[in-house]
Amino acid sequence: KTRIFSGVQPTGNLHLGNYLGAIKRFVEMQADYECLYCVVDLHAITVFQDPDELTHNTREVTAAYIAAGIDPQQSTIFNQSQVSGHAELAWILNCVARIGWLNRMTQFKEKAGKDREKASAGLYIYPNLMAADVLLYHATHVPVGEDQKQHIELARDIAQKFNNDFAETIARAGYPGGFFPLPEPVIAGAATRVMSFRDGTKKMSKSDPSDLSRINMTDDEDTIAKKIRKAKTDPEPLPSEVDGLKERPEADNLVGIYAALAGTGKDAVLADFGGGEFSAFKKALVELATDKLTPIGDEMRRLLSDPVEIDRILADGAARAHNVADPILAKTKDIIGFIRS
Ligand code: ATP
Ligand code: MG
Repeated sequence: KTRIFSGVQPTGNLHLGNYLGAIKRFVEMQADYECLYCVVDLHAITVFQDPDELTHNTREVTAAYIAAGIDPQQSTIFNQSQVSGHAELAWILNCVARIGWLNRMTQFKEKAGKDREKASAGLYIYPNLMAADVLLYHATHVPVGEDQKQHIELARDIAQKFNNDFAETIARAGYPGGFFPLPEPVIAGAATRVMSFRDGTKKMSKSDPSDLSRINMTDDEDTIAKKIRKAKTDPEPLPSEVDGLKERPEADNLVGIYAALAGTGKDAVLADFGGGEFSAFKKALVELATDKLTPIGDEMRRLLSDPVEIDRILADGAARAHNVADPILAKTKDIIGFIRS
């Protein structure tokens, strides 16, 4: 049975990459599958968060989910810290994952920076918590941006090792094919890695100090227009074939964004704009981006004006998440040999 799990960190500045790489895909999947969409606040605190901002940002991600089209009746929307199974299973998986596996994770190296000794221990074991997020629900598919591919592969390795280490009790518990399904990343579409508007070789990111590097989901029309106008490009006209985007990261990025927003492919975009100047293409991109994003931003603001209702949605989602997670966590404990009453 297909079950979807994914999450976004409440670390502020939700941007176009989060929308195209993750949230928009979440919306598309909810029609066909059982989906759990989490606001991963336990992940957020791997880097210090101001408490009031963390609370606000948690509501903001929730509002973004709903404003983008996730229906909280149909899909389960909740914040991670309200379901204690995430932290409990993460501890167990900390004891399954190998230090050598974690040492290969590129996100840790990027986020920890030069002085790795000063990074939190949580940032280092973050991928184990992410594996727990997915495995706690026996989720089979995880829609994410390209940057999370390595973490999903690690989650598969962890699931596989757990299944091997405990093969005997797992078989006795009635799971001959293994207890944890190996989750598949779902990385698809024209914008799986949206790049910074200031530097076409860097991922668009919440933590980039330059606001001009990204379009925020709450930016108004004028801000979106300004940021696209100022986005870095090269002096050549747009190519007519997708092949011509190689070695042109900024052009490739903007064409990919256009394609993802329009729901087409890069080839279709180049069929319309190939051979033309960037200025004309950027004008069309401003119109498209404004059209798609400003209604979401407006709806986010409307939802955020009623924090009590947002908290109620999260509580309701957490109760439903518990219903799925609790029996799986209980079985996990039995398999390991923990006594429980
Ligand atoms: P942070 O800098 O705090 O890690 P982030 O922008 O990477 O923030 P996350 O909450 O870590 O956001 O990621 C949420 C989802 O958005 C993930 O599925 C991630 O792969 C996706 N995502 C993040 N940045 C991009 C991007 N530039 N392009 C496409 N998808 C992205
Ligand atoms: Mg990230």
